[in-house]
Amino acid sequence: MIPDDHPRAASLMTREKLVDGFKRNIVVAEGLIAHGRGEAFDYLLGEKTTEMAESAVRAAAALLLISKNAVLSVNGNAAALCAKEIVELADITGAKIEVNLFYRTEERERAIKAELERHGARQVLGVGEKASARIPELSSERRRVDPEGILVADTVFVPLEDGDRTEALAKMGKSVITVDLNPLSRTARAANITIVDNLVRVMPALVQKASALKGKDEKTLRQIVELFDNEENLDQSLASIRSGAK
Ligand code: ATP
Repeated sequence: MIPDDHPRAASLMTREKLVDGFKRNIVVAEGLIAHGRGEAFDYLLGEKTTEMAESAVRAAAALLLISKNAVLSVNGNAAALCAKEIVELADITGAKIEVNLFYRTEERERAIKAELERHGARQVLGVGEKASARIPELSSERRRVDPEGILVADTVFVPLEDGDRTEALAKMGKSVITVDLNPLSRTARAANITIVDNLVRVMPALVQKASALKGKDEKTLRQIVELFDNEENLDQSLASIRSGAK
């Protein structure tokens, strides 16, 4: 049990969720290591949401709402940390949910699908034979996508993604939204909208922002997306790390 008044309570509880996901075959050992890299950047950011992240969340919510065919791509870490909010975001924005794994086994796909369904997901794409289409230019198992999901999506939300796949999705002409604590990663640089913040803080904020913006006219939403400059946002996030996240 982690006491609530422990100075690192939030960070320790997040670790505990991932370890629990690991025991339930949702998270792989490599996912725990990737989280460690994320934690290091979070520490440098002062473990709080910056203004830059808030602005990226707003742009991401607007883009999801105006997309005709958005897909939320879910890996093991995302499912272990935020299954509830992923389902909520899909409900609010009308996006589909697709499981997509780097270390792919059908058993793990099914465990992740079950976790999403436990939180109310009605449809989960990308599981088993359904992931029958291929993303060109990718050799990992992550190239397998659902022909009803990522393959035909106009916008893909890919939290905690690796650079190769983000670049491949961008080359396919898709708008890519990612969440990555490392503003220097290839993923962060290749995406159209990068939210430099911890996924556990991003998802509730994204759900809230999407609810608030839902119902606004398309022109207003489009303007929010167009005014967002990812490169500038990343540079400011980096500057904030350099200055000690003041
Ligand atoms: P790239 O291929 O894009 O250069 P990478 O090789 O670092 O990046 P991975 O090893 O897949 O890619 O790392 C996962 C990324 O996810 C890391 O950049 C890490 O900072 C980030 N990350 C891990 N956990 C979280 C989290 N909870 N919230 C946000 N970002 C996270």
